[in-house]
Amino acid sequence: MHITCWGSRGSIPVSGKEFVTYGGDTTCIEIRTKDDDIIIVDAGTGIRRLGNHLVEQNRFSYNLIFTHAHWDHMIGFTSFKPLFMDRTELTVYRCPFPDQYIENMLANLMKPPNFPVRYSDLRASIRYIDSCPATFRIGSVTVESIPLNHPDGGCGYKFTESGHSFVFLTDNELGYAHPGGLSRDEYMKFCMGAELLFHDAEYTPQEYKTKKGWGHSLYTDVIDMAIEAGVKNLGLFHINSERTDSDMDSIVESCKAHIRNKNSDLNCFAAGCDVSFSL
Ligand SMILES: [Zn+2]
Ligand SMILES: [Zn+2]
Repeated sequence: MHITCWGSRGSIPVSGKEFVTYGGDTTCIEIRTKDDDIIIVDAGTGIRRLGNHLVEQNRFSYNLIFTHAHWDHMIGFTSFKPLFMDRTELTVYRCPFPDQYIENMLANLMKPPNFPVRYSDLRASIRYIDSCPATFRIGSVTVESIPLNHPDGGCGYKFTESGHSFVFLTDNELGYAHPGGLSRDEYMKFCMGAELLFHDAEYTPQEYKTKKGWGHSLYTDVIDMAIEAGVKNLGLFHINSERTDSDMDSIVESCKAHIRNKNSDLNCFAAGCDVSFSL
């Protein structure tokens, strides 16, 4: 499978010359399976550029999964151009919420006076499938879920195809217990042997002193967990909205030094906009 990051900024999109390398769009991940099915995770503002790209490629059938319902992971839905086209077929998986919750959330995004087009006026055909917490398949990919340790909950995912796994755990705090969340060791087990992990690594040790309990992880906690789980490649995700390109470069260097001190060969990088990976 081929994984592309279309946005990884946390909390709110940003723009400006100091945010060019890692990008300003909020969470959106695209996975292309070996059979060329398209899986989209989250509809942060990165989904706008992804939508334009898919239209250019003449692709109109997609699968969409959400991690949770915070604004930065949903607000791009209304700017996903294929929704306004008759030929689009969108399958939405009802993770992590049961019943009609996802449908209602997406419809509420478009209610007046907040948006000029109603959900009922979208041209795409949209169907919903019940999925989590059981393991399910999208074409050649097996999808496992795990509850997030985050305010208001959510789901993280493991995508496995032909023995290769990509784990996506954003908005997950390893160092604090939120209602419905799991222990750090449960996340470590979930990540065991993953070839690629994108994990929330929003805070520096200095910041975490005052941000503990906010729902995001200290990057050293993430590195230690990834090393213990035998992860090969770690993408630092949910980049703080105040973090400039040079700040992020320094964080990656600190992470690499921490990894060297642990005598590990974990490959660590910032999962910025347009980073892609083939497994
Ligand atoms: Zn977020
Ligand atoms: Zn969140």
